[in-house]
Amino acid sequence: MIRVGFGFDVHQLVEGRELWLGGVLIPHSVGALGHSDADVLLHAICDALLGAVALGDIGQHFPDTDPRWKGADSKVLLAAVMQLLKEKGWNVGNVDCTLILERPKIMPHVVTMRETIAPLLGVAIDAISIKATTSEKMGYIGRAEGVAAHAVALVQKGA
Ligand code: MG
Repeated sequence: MIRVGFGFDVHQLVEGRELWLGGVLIPHSVGALGHSDADVLLHAICDALLGAVALGDIGQHFPDTDPRWKGADSKVLLAAVMQLLKEKGWNVGNVDCTLILERPKIMPHVVTMRETIAPLLGVAIDAISIKATTSEKMGYIGRAEGVAAHAVALVQKGA
């Protein structure tokens, strides 16, 4: 049995915050605002995985009103999502993502992100694809006010 899920997330970029993307701290002048570490890419992957198995969304499982998740490392959230999938017998097939932001350049960090995410999902690095694009200076992403991520995940179980 195979299922596919989709995830989307967006966070505001502000001064005085760290920029965590794909589980990696990216050196930059601004960072993502959020209750947790605001890792937009890991949040989109969490929602894609939850969506594939119809287990709700990241906001239901880790509400931003819960002090437990204040400043949380999103790798911990992703591991918790994987635990939910494993309990129901699901394994990850592959994940494909696109980050949308004006700057900084993401490509120098993509291999580290893939190496960080793959073991959390129990897959090889070649099952994790991360792409990046800009918004061509249009809209809130184009004005560097925010960063967004899309993800799709395939999950499977049984023979
Ligand atoms: Mg988020």
